[in-house]
Amino acid sequence: MTNKQAIQNLDDIITRIEFTRLQVNSHKIVQLVAISKYSTADEIKKLYESGQRAFGENKVQDLKIKQEELSDLPIAWHFVGSLQKNKINNLIDLNPVLMHSLDSLELAEDLDKKLKAKNKKMNCLLQVNSAYEDTKSGIDPENANNVYNEIKEKYSNINLKGIMSIGAHSEDKNDIIKSFQTTKNIYDNCNDASICSMGMSGDFETAILNGSSMVRVGSALFNK
Ligand SMILES: *Cc1c(COP(=O)(O)O)cnc(C)c1O
Repeated sequence: MTNKQAIQNLDDIITRIEFTRLQVNSHKIVQLVAISKYSTADEIKKLYESGQRAFGENKVQDLKIKQEELSDLPIAWHFVGSLQKNKINNLIDLNPVLMHSLDSLELAEDLDKKLKAKNKKMNCLLQVNSAYEDTKSGIDPENANNVYNEIKEKYSNINLKGIMSIGAHSEDKNDIIKSFQTTKNIYDNCNDASICSMGMSGDFETAILNGSSMVRVGSALFNK
């Protein structure tokens, strides 16, 4: 990816986000998180120089390496992958601005305990498996609001900010729309939630039309 391509890709994605967003809500912006999991530090730097500030990784080890390689840049790092129990302390030490993938009560309990031991807090989203796919992690939609409330009540070092979901893996656009509507309904029933993270390279416009406030775009930004 050349510098020129980075500028073009970012400009194209932002234009598409804004065009779609204005059809839904002219008052609330949609945030773009650039998912850099397939990309090198050099490529991330090119997007940074084009104006992008929020980046996301899905493995704790990769997040650590890229943070170190790019430590001179004030990047807002997000974490979007499945978090293994034995990596919790490592993730806490990396201070992500937002952890999108809190996907069980057990993980919330462990994470809260380890945050308390370090006297730290973490902004998190509850991941919901809105498409009911075995290959995806996340809480089942029926239980999501109860689990959300339980985490809010019990685990005071977790700042729950909203909901994250991955759209249905389907050729049928109606399945994808349905999964986003399910996510949005759950989000609307959460007290004080401000972030509805849904939409990736292939479906972010559909996600925005259905209420997304944060999209996670990887391949379309980095030419992967
Ligand atoms: C990889 C990934 C993305 C970005 O996917 P693209 O299709 O490359 O845009 C978004 N969210 C999560 C959780 C991911 O793992």
